[in-house]
Amino acid sequence: MQAQEYIDLESQYGAHNYHPLDVVIDRAEGAWVYDVEGKRYLDCLAAYSAVNQGHCHPKILQTLEEQARKVTLTSRAFRNAQLPMLCKDLHDLTGFDMVLPMNSGTEAVETAIKVARKWGYKIKGVPQDKAEIIVCANNFHGRTVTIVGFSTDDQYRDGFGPFAPGFKVIPYGDAEALRNAITPNTCAFLVEPIQGEAGILIPLEGFLREAAEICQRNRVLLMTDEIQSGLGRTGKLFAYMHEGITPDVLIVGKALAGGYYPVSAVLASSEIMGVITPGDHGSTFGGNPLGCAIARTALRVLIEEKMVERSAELGTYFLSRLRSLRSAAIKEVRGKGLWIGIELHGKARPCCEALKDEGILCKETHDHVIRIGPPLVVTREELDWAFERIAKVMEENR
Ligand SMILES: *Cc1c(COP(=O)(O)O)cnc(C)c1O
Repeated sequence: MQAQEYIDLESQYGAHNYHPLDVVIDRAEGAWVYDVEGKRYLDCLAAYSAVNQGHCHPKILQTLEEQARKVTLTSRAFRNAQLPMLCKDLHDLTGFDMVLPMNSGTEAVETAIKVARKWGYKIKGVPQDKAEIIVCANNFHGRTVTIVGFSTDDQYRDGFGPFAPGFKVIPYGDAEALRNAITPNTCAFLVEPIQGEAGILIPLEGFLREAAEICQRNRVLLMTDEIQSGLGRTGKLFAYMHEGITPDVLIVGKALAGGYYPVSAVLASSEIMGVITPGDHGSTFGGNPLGCAIARTALRVLIEEKMVERSAELGTYFLSRLRSLRSAAIKEVRGKGLWIGIELHGKARPCCEALKDEGILCKETHDHVIRIGPPLVVTREELDWAFERIAKVMEENR
C-alpha cells in the first residue's frame, strides 16, 4: 500500500485528535525510522522522549520476548515476580522509598494528585475537601478532565468542562508568586522542571531550588513531573538534579519502558506514600510483569550505555552548533541536554514539513517552536548530518 492510502484510511476511520506529519512509519532502529516506501529519517522527537534508549533497543526486545512467553498480566489481585524488582531498581536508582506503578503518564499525574490530597488531609490536617494544589501557567500534565481543568491552553479545555476545583495557577518560574499563592490548605506544588510542550521553557537558574525551600518551609509537597524531562533527556538522570534538590514526589513515565510499553510511576517517601492503603487506588495493568520487566531493562541500558552522559555531552555540542546559526528566521535557540527548542519569529510547522523532506522528523510545539529531542543513542556524526539540513531549511525559510 502507498503512504497516501494509509493516510486516507486513518482519516476516514480514525478520530481526528492529532494533526501528524504525513510520514507513515513502518519500522525503526536506534535514532532512525523508515517509512512505508523505505525512505529513512532521523527521528528528532523520539516519541516525545519515550524512546530515549533508541527505537527497538535489542536488549529491551529480548526482555520483552522472554517475559511475554512467561507471564504478561496477573492484575494486582495476585503478586508477580517483576514488580518488586522494578520497585527496588527505582529505589536504588533514585533514593525514593516507595513506588506506585501506573501505565500512562497522565495516570501517574492523577495518582500524584490523589496522593498529595490524601497526604494533605491525613498528615497535614487540611479540612475536608479544601485541599489546594498549585500549578504553573503553560503546564502540560496530560489529558484527563481533572488535568486539562488546570491547563492554561484554551483548546485543551474548550468543550470539556465542568472541571475539578482545587487548583491554582501561577506564572512559571516565579518563586514570589508561589510564595503568595500558598495558603494553610495548600498540599502540593506540581511543576515541570523544564516545560516541554510549552516550547522547552527553562526557568531561571535557582527557581526550582527556591521553590523547594518555599515548599519545605510551608509543608507543601514539591511534585516534579519528569515524564518528559526525566531519564537522561536534559543531561542528568532527572532535571531536578541540575538544581541539587530532591522533590517530595517524582512522576516518571515515557522512557521508563524505552518505548516498548506504557509504564509510569509515582515515587515518594514512605511517609507520603504511606497514606495510600489497600483499595484506595489501582489499575488493572499497573505493575504488570511484562511492563515491569521491560522497564527494568530500559533503566539498565540507559545507565549501562551511559546515555545520560551522552545526552549532556552531545546536547552541549549540538546546542552550540545550532546557536551559531545566523538565520533571520530564528528568535532564540535554547535547551538542556539533548532537548533543544528553536524558537522562530514565524510558524514552525512549515519548517517541520521542510525538515521532513530533508529526512529529519521533528514536531512543532505551540506554533513557533521546533522541538529537537532525538533518541539519546544518536551519534555526533548524525547530529552533524542533521545540522547541515537544519541550516539549509533555516536559510530557505526566512
Ligand atoms: C507526555 C507527558 C504527560 C502525559 O503522559 P502520557 O503518557 O501521554 O499520558 C504528562 N506530563 C508531561 C510533562 C508529559 O510530557
